Amino acid sequence: MYGKGTVSINAENIMPVIKQWLYSDKDIFIREVISNACDAISKHKRLVSVGEAAAVEGGYHIEVRVDEAARTITFTDNGIGMTAEEVEKYISQVAFSGAADFIQKYAKEGTEGEGAGIIGHFGLGFYSVFMASSRVVIDSKSYLDEPAVRWTSEDGMTYEVEASDRTEQGTAITLTIDDEDKEFLDYWKLHGTLEKYCQFMPYPITLTETLPEEEPKEGEEPKKPRSEQINDTEPLWMKKPSDCTDEDYKEFYKKLFHDFEEPLFWIHLNAEYPFNLKGILYFPKIKNDFSINEGIVKLYNNQVFVADNIKEVIPEFLLLLKGAIDCPDLPLNVSRSFLQNDGYVKKMSQYITRKVADRLVSEFNNRREDYQRYWDDIHPFIKYGCIRDEKFYDRVKQALLFKTTEGEYLTLEEYRNRNADGEACTVLYTSDESRQTQMIAQYRSIGRDIVVLNTIIDGNYISFLEYAQRDDKVTFKRVDADTEGLTEDGEAQADVVEQLEKRFRAASNDQALTVRLQAFKSDDVIAMMTVDEQDRRFSEMSKQWRGTSMDDFPQKRTLALNTKHPLVKWLETAQDGERTDLVCEQVFDLAEMARQPLTGERMVKFLNRSNALLKDLVTE
Ligand code: ADP
Repeated sequence: MYGKGTVSINAENIMPVIKQWLYSDKDIFIREVISNACDAISKHKRLVSVGEAAAVEGGYHIEVRVDEAARTITFTDNGIGMTAEEVEKYISQVAFSGAADFIQKYAKEGTEGEGAGIIGHFGLGFYSVFMASSRVVIDSKSYLDEPAVRWTSEDGMTYEVEASDRTEQGTAITLTIDDEDKEFLDYWKLHGTLEKYCQFMPYPITLTETLPEEEPKEGEEPKKPRSEQINDTEPLWMKKPSDCTDEDYKEFYKKLFHDFEEPLFWIHLNAEYPFNLKGILYFPKIKNDFSINEGIVKLYNNQVFVADNIKEVIPEFLLLLKGAIDCPDLPLNVSRSFLQNDGYVKKMSQYITRKVADRLVSEFNNRREDYQRYWDDIHPFIKYGCIRDEKFYDRVKQALLFKTTEGEYLTLEEYRNRNADGEACTVLYTSDESRQTQMIAQYRSIGRDIVVLNTIIDGNYISFLEYAQRDDKVTFKRVDADTEGLTEDGEAQADVVEQLEKRFRAASNDQALTVRLQAFKSDDVIAMMTVDEQDRRFSEMSKQWRGTSMDDFPQKRTLALNTKHPLVKWLETAQDGERTDLVCEQVFDLAEMARQPLTGERMVKFLNRSNALLKDLVTE
């Protein structure tokens, strides 16, 4: 049985594939070897549980030993081990999958957990070690009373099998690391890689270094080799939510993301049906209001890290959250295109969305005050979710809030009840509280609520809501869209309006300007500039598409003059002349400035004119 051989199945074809695959993620070989070790332990544990093997003394463990001087890394487990035949079958004959064999033999229909766990296929598996090794030695001793076996190969294609001196049950895999991959021999590099993939693996993994034997210098203590356990064998997501405290969740968050900012709240997913799925999703505090921060959702398969942010499994908009999701049933070795088209994966992704939506609604219903406090941090995420996924919107729509300029948080229904204007509902909003102060004050004075919609996503969100709520006739209008509700009824004389319009068109250089004479409810406003809501949105959108800041999309402006104001009264009867032109220019600029800053030439002229007026005031 001992001797030399050539790995049977198409090894020449497989190696280049592995090489290419690993090009970007070379460190994956570490995950492969360790997850095989975990599988070997799970298999043994299962045999013990069905009475076919004796329990191991001292518990299961995996040791990773790095010897920089010898350039080796050894991975040792005390799992099931392999007989010489098994090494031949599972290692030499690549095509056979040991796990599949094992499942056929032992896993009975319906046995929970373990059986499915063993099918931890991770693609090309064991052979990935050849990407970083110039020599691979397997020493294995089966739990069955059979002699230990040693398998050695330098290229993954030819190998040698002989007797091994291993005495303990389990497997030790010793890799002699290639020169170009010697970074893996560095204790901290290896530590980092192990942590990345194995932080939550179910059996204790320790990393230990072997130091060269050196006589310590006179008076110096001999150097102590570093050694520590890498993993937490019981990640919080595996526990029952009822057994976890708030502190546990916060601490776990810190550990997982090295983020010292506390999360706002979290969702513990714990489902066996219809999906075997566990995990915790955290809502992080958003640091900058205007940017949507990038979250990280780590995907695990039976506590083995697979990858960050797999958007086929986790709905894209949820990737703004941070967390960990463990899906033992996913066929993760298959390609992304498979995941994209897989009905099961799609359903699971929808299930996650549903859970998140339900949790938000329950926060809203049961802890509204807390929910309102979070709202400023979580709203961009929720809005984005609504736009991206109508099903999510349908589930959370009752829990969508609008913050008013007075700091209140209202649902759309509450807004509608407080600001009834017949059958339709017009939501007044401001996109910039400080700039739009004058208009806000006007509407506040007549008792209207104004909501603040000032994040980058709000433009799209408003359009989405108008579409989604079209049956309820909900529309959004910025405070400077028109003067509806702010003026009293009454007709102005057409010829006066025409005359003023001519003057203001000249003063503004805008031949499309409309002028209105209206009695405002308030006396102290001279004039208000309004821009048609749809025009303005269109211009904003076109700016967004083209990525320019140029405001060259024509917008219909209307200048509403308050007939109650003495200056407007004066203008109504004023004769043509320099003074009238000057008043018109100044009134126009002031009204424009209440909406947006003047720029360029217009600003210069305004400043000069204002200076001149002030000078007249003191020199007259
Ligand atoms: P997979 O794990 O997907 O089956 P691998 O190429 O990683 O494929 O491993 C091939 C087989 O070799 C495993 O299924 C298992 O039977 C055996 N094997 C690998 N590592 C170990 C180990 N540490 N202990 C026992 N058996 C192992």
